[in-house]
Amino acid sequence: MSAGLVPASDLEKEDVRQALAYAAEFADNQSIRSPLDGVSSVGYLLGVAAHDHDHEGGSTLSEMDLRVRALERILVEKGYVETAALDRIIEAYETKVGPHIGARVIAKAWSDPSFRQSLLEDASKAVGTLAEVGRVGEHLVAVENTPQLHNMVVCTLCSCYPWDVLGLPPVWYKSFAYRSRVVKEPRSVLADFGVVLPASTEIRVWDSTAETRFLVVPVRPAGTDGWSETQLASLVTRDCMVGTGLPKNPGEVA
Ligand code: FE
Repeated sequence: MSAGLVPASDLEKEDVRQALAYAAEFADNQSIRSPLDGVSSVGYLLGVAAHDHDHEGGSTLSEMDLRVRALERILVEKGYVETAALDRIIEAYETKVGPHIGARVIAKAWSDPSFRQSLLEDASKAVGTLAEVGRVGEHLVAVENTPQLHNMVVCTLCSCYPWDVLGLPPVWYKSFAYRSRVVKEPRSVLADFGVVLPASTEIRVWDSTAETRFLVVPVRPAGTDGWSETQLASLVTRDCMVGTGLPKNPGEVA
């Protein structure tokens, strides 16, 4: 039996039951719409509830908010996380972590051949050496574009994304349309993003997982000889590091 088929332990089942009780409690106490009414409780927590009618007097809290609150509460109560630590993480992703970090990484790779080599060999380690980035939590893999090869990144299962270097994922990255289409028709998806590549350029799509995230290293734009890393970083967009875009033209930022 593979690890993924091992039944949840009793402790995990109890955690789920407790989280569901909290979700129900939040629904009762805050007069928000109850998502548990008439729905398989485990199905609700796993996000597969088939419950789409409205209740009178519902609040503005979404079902996802409700689910997150319930899970947060049980994690705090069990001592897995502290509320203050959660607040710090959220604040960091809202204010400090974003695609400007990835842009610094790409600009350095374009400028410094030895850093580029390190990045392609072990991106987590190479990115971790940049003081302004800090620790990279997941196994990060850098995939380099060339005129012959264009890389694109997706998480077909859910929304795994290199948060450490790109910040919060865009909505389209999490959409079913992107996740399904990019695998079947990457060239057509690219065209939707306004990118048309020569037919001779191969397109490779990388499927992220909870353990492995990908960062696309775009081709350095022509006409940037002698540019500083700061100047180069201004050409690097979030989308070009996911593979759905290309870097800006030098003329756009000059
Ligand atoms: Fe995912």
